[in-house]
Amino acid sequence: MIKYLDLQQLNASFEPALSDALARVSRSGWYLYGEATARFEQDFARYCGTAHCIGTGNGLDALTLIFLAYREAGTMSAGDEVIVPANTYIATLLAILRAGLKPVLCEPSPATCNIDTAYAETLITPRTRAILPVHLYGRLADMQGIHDLATRYGLKIIEDAAQAHGAICLKASQAHGTIPCEDFRRGCIISSESLRRGEEQPLRAGNLGDAAAFSFYPAKNLGALGDGGAVTTNDAHLATLVRAIANYGSTTKYIHQYPGINSRLDELQAAALSVKLPRLDKDNAHRREIARLYHEHIHWGRLHLRNNIAPQGIGADNVFHIFPVFSPHRDKLQQHLAAHHIQTQIHYPVPPHRQAALRQAYGMQKLPITERIHNEELSLPISPLLTDREIGKIIDCINSFIP
Ligand SMILES: *Cc1c(COP(=O)(O)O)cnc(C)c1O
Repeated sequence: MIKYLDLQQLNASFEPALSDALARVSRSGWYLYGEATARFEQDFARYCGTAHCIGTGNGLDALTLIFLAYREAGTMSAGDEVIVPANTYIATLLAILRAGLKPVLCEPSPATCNIDTAYAETLITPRTRAILPVHLYGRLADMQGIHDLATRYGLKIIEDAAQAHGAICLKASQAHGTIPCEDFRRGCIISSESLRRGEEQPLRAGNLGDAAAFSFYPAKNLGALGDGGAVTTNDAHLATLVRAIANYGSTTKYIHQYPGINSRLDELQAAALSVKLPRLDKDNAHRREIARLYHEHIHWGRLHLRNNIAPQGIGADNVFHIFPVFSPHRDKLQQHLAAHHIQTQIHYPVPPHRQAALRQAYGMQKLPITERIHNEELSLPISPLLTDREIGKIIDCINSFIP
């Protein structure tokens, strides 16, 4: 059996360091707001290239906290609109709703499956305050286009980076190379000069907008052994607000300034994440190598199968949290692979606007591109520990499919 993602095998590959780190926390007698969390927040901020990182209980809370902080700051008020891709995990929309704001659903570009910036522009109203790109499947959204739009209309950019830990921003024309895209950050965070001299690290997901939310759900590219999340930002005021609101609205014990929530990254999860973070780039590179093998050896045309790789190719802007293939015969293909002991998943079978939870507000909306993606998507195994033999078996099995 080839599992979709063998978490037991993946986490075993971090031993004995992982168990040692967990045991240290267990024996320390200190489980929340301690050294392990502070250290991981520092490590992850440095990795993403941001000035601040605030650990949270999960990814949904991280996104929610950003919007709650903007509400406290007076940047956004109840009923303000946030443009969000319609094809995402439901958490993206729920976070906006939890903060009393209104998600406005935008179709994706069929080629990339990420938010279509030209379409997003048609959705802007006087109430629009923010645009929320989701780097779906691990592939960065069109950040240059989003920055152009945000600059013209004065919008905040909030990244949902829950699937894109480590993805590096590249210029479209340089997608095959390794030169990071500094255009929209020029004069802002990183000067192009220092980038060229190699003094600065590449521009990564989490550092491409005003604030970003990460999830460390166990199956993410950087996964905890339970729930975890983080907010990254270069905005010191926003960071202070997020940290306070995540701690019952408090900056001083028993003094509560905001009606906050309780959302913490605990010491055990933070310690586990600090063990796993140093290997993230290597694991992402391995995911790209698996993607390259799939891309080169699957008989796409003959099988009427599509992927979302063209036209950029496989570059560092995609960390392949998911390797999606699209087929009108998706269910039959999934059964064919299962019959040969190959596990796959569907991301996602039902789009958010068709869910019972949101149908009343959004069910009437016509989103044919989103619906087609949800009807045709199938996710192939993509564990960074897949062997060449296993990848070969998956490719052969797909190529033996008769639609
Ligand atoms: C996983 C995920 C989330 C939510 O993260 P949790 O930690 O499960 O709350 C949000 N958005 C996207 C795109 C995700 O994939």
